[in-house]
Amino acid sequence: MSSQPRCPYCRHFVYLDTLTCPECDGTIAFHVISRQFFGVHNGRVVIDGETWHTCSNRGWQCNWLVRDDAPAGRCIACRLTRRRPPSDDTVALEKLAKTEEAKRRLLLQLADLGLPIVPWDVRPGGLGFDFLSSLSQGERIMIGHANGIISLDLAESLDDRREALRIRLGEPYRTMLGHLRHEVGHYFQNVLLTDDAAWTRCRALFGDERASYQEALTRHYASGAPAGWRDEYISEYATMHPWEDFAETFAHYLHITGTLQTAAAIGIHLDAATTNARDTDVIPRESYRDESVHQLLGDWEWMSQAFNRINRAMGFGDLYPFDIVPTVRTKLGFVHEMVTRAPLTTAQQASLALQGSADRT
Ligand SMILES: [Zn+2]
Ligand SMILES: [Zn+2]
Ligand SMILES: [Zn+2]
Repeated sequence: MSSQPRCPYCRHFVYLDTLTCPECDGTIAFHVISRQFFGVHNGRVVIDGETWHTCSNRGWQCNWLVRDDAPAGRCIACRLTRRRPPSDDTVALEKLAKTEEAKRRLLLQLADLGLPIVPWDVRPGGLGFDFLSSLSQGERIMIGHANGIISLDLAESLDDRREALRIRLGEPYRTMLGHLRHEVGHYFQNVLLTDDAAWTRCRALFGDERASYQEALTRHYASGAPAGWRDEYISEYATMHPWEDFAETFAHYLHITGTLQTAAAIGIHLDAATTNARDTDVIPRESYRDESVHQLLGDWEWMSQAFNRINRAMGFGDLYPFDIVPTVRTKLGFVHEMVTRAPLTTAQQASLALQGSADRT
């Protein structure tokens, strides 16, 4: 987001998922291209001479706008959802609303980073989402990525269920947004690594992804992460297979850039004199596209420590319960390089691509 989202009527800050302004009760909707909220009357608003409508999934909490000619009146975010629970399963659909909210946040971030999004119904292997619930389907829904399609189990948006899994798996962090950021890492590994040189470097850092996945899976669930894993990996799960190491690293790249972007939009700075951080103030940026990974991770080191302290002040666990060791820094540097060399070179272009792709059904 290029700036703080505000209510168009009263200029009060509103969260990204807002449908009705809590200050003035205005009915509002989000316009992806300008990253701004607009007031809507009878589900409509005219922006720069063009009529926009509220997304037909607004009843399920989608607050994005769609252009007049969008098929079925679905916004691009909703259109990317390939499968969802049956319409009579209201409990699962409620969970879908929360997961879709995380997905919209993800899509905005991908566009801001200038990462290209091709929808699944435009090209085979394009990005799509299957959001089903193992509670309603009576079958096990696996979290994963295959040929562009990301599958999530909506049952995991139940706090007790997700938290129980988190504890059983010994993970310090488990959220729906985190799942999405991880799975989309699998998608972008194939999109961004377009030449042999990139794959060679990738294998040198993350290992050879052609190693048997099945064997790795069996080994991981039998014996866990190898001793000393912290010296080379961001998480235990990353140790399982080179694919997972890349996806975990990519997810952390999104955690870090996304959180710094929000800090920048809020205007949070760390004063050098107070924090004794370094010679200069720490000033997070909305974009690190033109910055080195050294700058990115330097800012993050201080900002994440500050956020952890704030969380602890409320009796919570750390906001960012991870250590970035030198090997992981190098891996993040590789991801940074791959992301910033992506074909769409400006965030604005990608943002337009994100919205424009809604018109092509
Ligand atoms: Zn308002
Ligand atoms: Zn929508
Ligand atoms: Zn994975």
